[in-house]
Amino acid sequence: MALDLQLLVDRLRTVLGGEDACALHEPCFGGREWEYVKSCLDEGWVSSAGRYVDAFEDQLAAACGVNHAVAIVNGTAALHAALLLAGVGPGCEVIVPTLTFVGTVNAIAHCGAQPHFADSDPITLGLDPEKLARHLEACTSGDDCRNRVTGNRIAAIVPMHTFGHAVDMDGLCTVAERFGIPMIEDAAEAIGSTYRGKPLGSFGLAGVLSFNGNKTLTTGGGGAILTNDATFARDARHLSTTAKKAHRWEFDHDRVAFNYRMPNLNAALGVAQLEQLDGFLARKRALAGSYAEAVRGVQGVRFFEEPPHSRSNYWLNAILLDDDAVNLRDEVLARTNEVGIGTRPVWKLMHRLPMFAVAPRMDLSVAEDLERRIVNIPSSVRLGMAHAA
Ligand SMILES: *Cc1c(COP(=O)(O)O)cnc(C)c1O
Repeated sequence: MALDLQLLVDRLRTVLGGEDACALHEPCFGGREWEYVKSCLDEGWVSSAGRYVDAFEDQLAAACGVNHAVAIVNGTAALHAALLLAGVGPGCEVIVPTLTFVGTVNAIAHCGAQPHFADSDPITLGLDPEKLARHLEACTSGDDCRNRVTGNRIAAIVPMHTFGHAVDMDGLCTVAERFGIPMIEDAAEAIGSTYRGKPLGSFGLAGVLSFNGNKTLTTGGGGAILTNDATFARDARHLSTTAKKAHRWEFDHDRVAFNYRMPNLNAALGVAQLEQLDGFLARKRALAGSYAEAVRGVQGVRFFEEPPHSRSNYWLNAILLDDDAVNLRDEVLARTNEVGIGTRPVWKLMHRLPMFAVAPRMDLSVAEDLERRIVNIPSSVRLGMAHAA
């Protein structure tokens, strides 16, 4: 037999310990969360203005190596606003990996634009820059990079850093520059990850984070737009605050806009979580190290390790099935979940969802191959405690 399922379960148990049920990813509230949330209630500042929103934005910008962070209600809304500000709208196409969470592509569709699906690199699980360059050469023309078939302008590239692992950013930035396409990074999963020492989310015109309950750092629900561009940050604040012009009492608005700002209550959670970020990252990396070690002796699978030149937050750990075990994915999922080890397949590929089935695309064979091989395994910060020094 290509893969010994019992051996795999036993090896995972050496990392997870005991017989307890382990969820795929649970939040960790080990700091001043109660204190800060309570102070919002005590002070009466629960909504979209308040000192925690300001503090969270300042501390987040510092942690992510950017000049500005704008706190938003969730990651999808943050992507939506960032794409609109980058000029994405009807008649545009946006390059996006088919291997991503649906939120990335929903945000593009909310702009009235078309996703244009791109393939993945098996080393990073993110966009493959060389394959993208060849595709853009073949299918676009003109100074404004139009799709020759649809006539639409390729208005943005949205790389997504899968499970917190960096896309090949040297390669991708070169392609984006060569074709003159702005880049909005979906770094929803990648807080604390770096590429050549530079934090993910800080490479493009803007980057986006998510603080959903299953992410490394949570605000309940939440997201952020990161940017070094002061005008972009100002416009992001304006667009997400009903485009209200600053005035002490007048209600004056200068465009159709959104109520997308993060409430103070959520930001209070975020400030408490950010204080623990370094510890969270250390534990997640320690957990990943233990998995890599434990899975090494199991024939038929390998633990996915961080790509070259990068340092990953290991938001979601993953094992990949080898050729001789690739048809056993569903058995692996069934068996592990039966014994209380919360595992999941990767997202169904976006070009296979009914609402995106006719969207333009390149050859997607690498993503299609990866989809059959990836199994995510429990990754909560708590699980890393026993493994961190
Ligand atoms: C979580 C996530 C999002 C969306 O974030 P929400 O806060 O849930 O809206 C977008 N893209 C990716 C890749 C994600 O993992």
